[in-house]
Amino acid sequence: DSKRRIRNGWQVFTPALAQTQQDRLRVETHLRRATDNNEFHLVYQPQVDLKGGRIIAAEALIRWQNRQLGEMRPDHFIGHAETTGDIVRIGSWVLREACRQAAQWRDEGLGIVRVAVNVSYRQFLGDDLADNVHGVLAEFDLPGTALELEFTERVLIEDAPDTLRTFARLREQGVVLTIDDFGEGYSALNYLRRLPIHGLKLSQLFVEGVPDNKSDVAVCQAVAGIARSLGLGLVAEGVESEQQRRFLLELGVPVGQGFLFAPGLRPDEFARRLKSNQPVGDTT
Ligand code: C2E
Ligand code: MG
Ligand code: MG
Ligand code: MG
Repeated sequence: DSKRRIRNGWQVFTPALAQTQQDRLRVETHLRRATDNNEFHLVYQPQVDLKGGRIIAAEALIRWQNRQLGEMRPDHFIGHAETTGDIVRIGSWVLREACRQAAQWRDEGLGIVRVAVNVSYRQFLGDDLADNVHGVLAEFDLPGTALELEFTERVLIEDAPDTLRTFARLREQGVVLTIDDFGEGYSALNYLRRLPIHGLKLSQLFVEGVPDNKSDVAVCQAVAGIARSLGLGLVAEGVESEQQRRFLLELGVPVGQGFLFAPGLRPDEFARRLKSNQPVGDTT
């Protein structure tokens, strides 16, 4: 099929393919049954202490494997799932599966690994999210601090009436709240004061250009400054080189995530690395 290509070992749909009505329908039809058919799994990307190089948390990233469509990356189906509303069911599955895995690692003696779960703006509409989280934490006997929720600025823009209350209820449970891809969206700075969040994730869009691109450097400095003055945590995304790691460290960014350390890993591989928890990268 000439419309398909291989990238990073994944068979992906090109945007042109996904655009046609027919193919959108095809994806959406398969997507509807994907949860019931057990077609999803999660991989876990380490969040690493930039100084010491040790793993301190894991971001759960969804993967979809379908017999007819092949392996699909989230960027090619999350948007569809948001449009159809399927993301609410898929998101609940991700939340439960990530917590189940954290409990399994705990039971295997690895201690409590905080798992970060991506949450769509659609999951903030209505007020099930905080209840859902409460139920899942109770089911696996996990403290709220074992869970981090990453949401994008889209959540703030939609400004659903219950959003602030949902945030407050999640925070009461000890859940760590983080704005993903910070800087890519509308950066509604006024929200940062109002929201009971714990941290920001500096978008890889800007990390990519450091230390050579002057405007990317400026954005990274600005975001680091905002995080520092508001007392927020900061995780740099998409750290691919030793040079980037050094630059971010000098900026005072404490935590990073990216291919320099590891891609998303299968649970057993993540556990293997956690057991040895040796520093990764050059920590001299
Ligand atoms: P994100 O939350 O910003 O996740 C980071 C993405 O960057 C992941 O892509 C990850 O594999 C990739 N990445 C990590 N390190 C590097 C690096 O050093 N260089 C580069 N070039 N890329 C890196 P992935 O897994 O394809 O996920 C894409 C997006 O899909 C995520 O972006 C997130 O917004 C969304 N997503 C993933 N899983 C879920 C989910 O369970 N629910 C929802 N609602 N969205 C999800
Ligand atoms: Mg994320
Ligand atoms: Mg991100
Ligand atoms: Mg992203």
